[in-house]
Amino acid sequence: MSRVRYPTPNSRSTLLQTLAQGISKVSECFEVTGVGLGVPGLILTQENKVIFSPNLRVIEGIPLKDELEPKVGLPVAVENDNNAATWGEFRFGAGSEAKHLLFVGLGTGIGGGIVMYGQLLRGAQGAGGELGHVTVQATGPRCACGNRGCLEAFASGSAIGRRAREVASERPGSALGQLAAERKLLGEDVTDLAREGDEGALSVLKEAGRWLGIGLAGFVNILNSEVVVVGGGAMEAGELILKAARREVQLRALSPSRELVEVREAALGPDSGVLGAAALAQDLTQKEYALDS
Ligand SMILES: [Zn+2]
Repeated sequence: MSRVRYPTPNSRSTLLQTLAQGISKVSECFEVTGVGLGVPGLILTQENKVIFSPNLRVIEGIPLKDELEPKVGLPVAVENDNNAATWGEFRFGAGSEAKHLLFVGLGTGIGGGIVMYGQLLRGAQGAGGELGHVTVQATGPRCACGNRGCLEAFASGSAIGRRAREVASERPGSALGQLAAERKLLGEDVTDLAREGDEGALSVLKEAGRWLGIGLAGFVNILNSEVVVVGGGAMEAGELILKAARREVQLRALSPSRELVEVREAALGPDSGVLGAAALAQDLTQKEYALDS
């Protein structure tokens, strides 16, 4: 694999130029037949346009496929980053033997993706699979999307950080409390302290795992998935979150779905989205080739 990284562009033209530059750079070492983009935001399938990207505003409103294809002379597949990660784990990772899979990415927010019958489910407009924004508590904390009590507001990396700050103020003498007195606690601090055995940090991760499991139990009841893959930065905590999530799924989901489903950690880490987008580009290239011949 060849990697190039660029700083986040701040204008539409620099963004497109940077993408084209990256593609041409990779083309120096490999024969490139298609391009897959994993984009953080909601994408309308028909127009291949990003309509909402709170963390990368510059990309909103750009018909990426139409703009980029003439620039690079290659077919371009555009996909939501979590759908791309779902596809990566389905094709090459923790769910490669399954036909019905769910992916939940625990990062700053919570993203998701659904594969049923070996197909990525995008819904009528392409906006489906937003598993992080299912309400799990009507009066819960405000979510970044504007709703209250979304799964994201309880089990994401930012939610873990926020809850840790609350627990730290309740237990000022604990390792969590002492670190909080020095600086703002982040999700990754909680994992480090939990591994060192801090009770407060362990309880924060367990609580996030329980909320995750509450969400997953609902998804499993609806979809009867064989595998649930959990990825994203917060999976540094691995079993410290997943054990509680699995328990909740077993307590709450219906039989026989709960006996079938396996909740696993993602196998490809940050590469699941990259590999998934590449596989989607390959599928698109083959489809376009078949249509042309
Ligand atoms: Zn939300």
